[in-house]
Amino acid sequence: MKSASLMWFRRDLRAYDNAAFSQALRQHEATHCVFVFDTNILRHLPHDDRRVAFIHAALQELDTTLREQGGGLRVLQGNPTQLIPQLAAELRCDAVYCNRDYEPYARERDAKVAALLGDQGCELRSVKDQVIFEQDEVLTKQGKPYTVFTPYIRAWRQRFTPALAQTLPTPMAGALAPPSAAQGLPSLATLGFAAASQQLLRLQTGRSGGEALLQDFAQRIRHYKAARDYPAVKGVSYLSAHLRFGTISIREAVQLAISEEGEGAESWLNELIWREFYQQLLWHFPAVVEQSFKAEYRQLVFPGQDSWFDAWCQGNTGYPIVDAAMRQLNHSGFMHNRLRMVAASFLVKDLLIDWRRGEAYFAAKLLDFDLAANNGGWQWAASTGCDAQPYFRIFNPVSQSEKFDPEGKFIRRYVPELAALDNKAIHAPWQAKSLPSDFQLGRDYPAPIVEHATQRELALTLFGKK
Ligand SMILES: Cc1cc2nc3c(=O)[nH]c(=O)nc-3n(C[C@H](O)[C@H](O)[C@H](O)COP(=O)(O)OP(=O)(O)OC[C@H]3O[C@@H](n4cnc5c(N)ncnc54)[C@H](O)[C@@H]3O)c2cc1C
Repeated sequence: MKSASLMWFRRDLRAYDNAAFSQALRQHEATHCVFVFDTNILRHLPHDDRRVAFIHAALQELDTTLREQGGGLRVLQGNPTQLIPQLAAELRCDAVYCNRDYEPYARERDAKVAALLGDQGCELRSVKDQVIFEQDEVLTKQGKPYTVFTPYIRAWRQRFTPALAQTLPTPMAGALAPPSAAQGLPSLATLGFAAASQQLLRLQTGRSGGEALLQDFAQRIRHYKAARDYPAVKGVSYLSAHLRFGTISIREAVQLAISEEGEGAESWLNELIWREFYQQLLWHFPAVVEQSFKAEYRQLVFPGQDSWFDAWCQGNTGYPIVDAAMRQLNHSGFMHNRLRMVAASFLVKDLLIDWRRGEAYFAAKLLDFDLAANNGGWQWAASTGCDAQPYFRIFNPVSQSEKFDPEGKFIRRYVPELAALDNKAIHAPWQAKSLPSDFQLGRDYPAPIVEHATQRELALTLFGKK
C-alpha cells in the first residue's frame, strides 16, 4: 500500500518553501492537503472580519496551485481536534504534518490532536517553519530564555548562518493525492461571513500578493531605516499580514534582508528579529497573555473612563495623530508601527486605561494580528513588558505628530475635517493662534478629551507608586 500523509495548513498558506509540506512530500508517496476553518476561533469574529476574507483569498490561490500539480485543498469547517483525526483515519494516513504554532491555544489544540492521532496509530509531525529560531534554540549561557532584546539579537546573529534562510524544496509533481469529488472551497457566505468583507481588504492578498509586496519592498529596502518612522511615506514593507498567515515565508524575508548591504536592510532584519523575540517570549512565558510580564505592575488599577476608551476606539480623542492612527486601523485593518506605539502609549499613559483593553481592540481590528507581537508591543508601550519603555518615558502626542508627520499629510488623509488647518495648527488645533474661519473646535473636530500634561503627571504617580 502507498504511504500517505495529510498536510494540515494553518498559518502557512503557501505551497512554496513550506517546511512541513516539504517534509510530507519528500517522505510519502501521496500527500493530501487540508485547511480547517476552526469554529472555536470563528465564532468570536464579526461577520465582516477581514482576516477571514484574507485567509479565504489565500486558500483560493493555494487550491489553484495544488490543482495545477494534480492535487487540491480540502477545506473543512468545525473543530480541528475532531476533524483532523477523522480525516487522517478516512484517508488512511500514516502521518499528519503541520508547522508549529507557539500560541497557547494552538499548543493545547495540537497536543490534543497528537494524542488522538496516536490512539489511532498515526503521528502528528510538527515542524519549525514560521521563525528562524524557535523555543530553546536561542538561550542565555545559563540556559534561560532571553528577556532583553539587545543580548537576544546578539545571540540570534551569532547563531545565524545563511543556510538557515535557504528555501526548501516542495516537489509536488506526482506526490499529491488527487482531489476528491467533494472537495472545494466554501464561499465566505457559506462560512457565515459577508462576501463584501473581501472589499474591506486594502492589501494584495494570497501568495501572489505577498510576492508582489516583497518584490516592491526589495526596491525600497535601502531607504527603510530613514523612512520607516513616517506614516505618510511608503517606507515600510506592509508584509505583516503575509508573514502572519504565511503567504510569504520567514526565510524569503530574511534572504532579502541579508542579500542587501547597508543600514536599511540591517534595520529591517532587526525588526524580523523583534518578531522572533516576541515569539520565543510567548513560548516561554505564556502567562503574558493574561498579565503584565513585570510582577510589580500586576496590581495596577487604571482609573481611565469608559467614554475615553470609546473616543480612542473611534478616533475622536481630539489629538489628531492619535485619531488619524485609530481611523487608519478602523478603515484598513492596518496601523503604521510608529502610530501603534503612539496610540498605545496614549491609551495607557494619557487616558490611564488598562493596556489589555487596547490590546484586545487591536486584536479585533488588525489584519496582521499576531498574539506574540501584539502582546509584546502593548506591554512595551505600557511599560509592563520585559524589555519595555521605562514608565517615566511618556510619548507626547503633539511632538510625535510634529516629528513624524511634519506636514500633517497623514492626518489630512484620515481626519479630513482638519485638512484646511495649516501645518502647525494641525498637530494641536486647540493651541492654534488662528484657525480657518469656517472651522470650529468642538463642533467640527473634538476638543482634546484630556490634557496631556495633567495626565502625564497622573501616569507617573500611578506607575511610580507600583
Ligand atoms: C502596540 C503594538 C501592537 C502591535 N501588534 C502587532 C501585531 O498584532 N502583529 C504584527 O505583526 N505586528 C504588530 N506590531 C509590530 C509592528 O507594528 C508591525 O509588525 C508593523 O507595523 C507591520 O508593518 P510592516 O509589515 O510594514 O512592518 P516592517 O517595518 O516592514 O517590518 C517587517 C516585519 O517585521 C515584523 N515586525 C516589525 N516590527 C515588529 C515589532 N515591533 N514586533 C514584532 N514584529 C515586528 C513584522 O512581521 C513586520 O511585517 C505591533 C506593535 C505595537 C507597538
